[in-house]
Amino acid sequence: MSENNQKLEGFEGPGFLATSLDKAVGMARKNSIWPLPFATSCCGIEFMATMASTYDFGRFGAERLSFSPRQADLLMVMGTISKKMGPVLRQVYEQMAEPKWVIAVGACASTGGIFDTYSVLQGIDRIIPVDVYVPGCPPRPEQIIDGVLKIQELVQNESLRRRNSPEYQELLASYGIE
Ligand code: SF4
Repeated sequence: MSENNQKLEGFEGPGFLATSLDKAVGMARKNSIWPLPFATSCCGIEFMATMASTYDFGRFGAERLSFSPRQADLLMVMGTISKKMGPVLRQVYEQMAEPKWVIAVGACASTGGIFDTYSVLQGIDRIIPVDVYVPGCPPRPEQIIDGVLKIQELVQNESLRRRNSPEYQELLASYGIE
């Protein structure tokens, strides 16, 4: 059985399964991720290939793309982010409702990539928290899928209380986000 279809852990008997709310909600969230593709350059093209029939991103329950931040919970940043674009990306992040997760897809989003210049943001984690970094210039669709599987792992195992924890509030505060 694939990781994606793994059974809920709990106490099982004929016709019933007792588990915790955290685990049940985690599994539901994990299999209904709504990504917001924030694609600014070539890595976005790899994402298009990831969505198409050969790689079939939809099999992870994530085929419903959202271009409205308020109806998305996975921000996928793909491409070079200029410093001018930084505030826009941050606004999109802030408009997304909790719980939300972020993937930096490719070298540019993760570190600025080959563009070590005055105008390019040297990694989106300078302005928003990032959960998973996908290496590569560009990453292949398999790598993007691997990044999403890592996000699914986080989503499945995240405590429902994490978003209210002092550690999480501290993380947001370190970015100046309320
Ligand atoms: S990491 Fe490479 S492929 Fe991706 S946006 Fe940057 S230059 Fe383009």
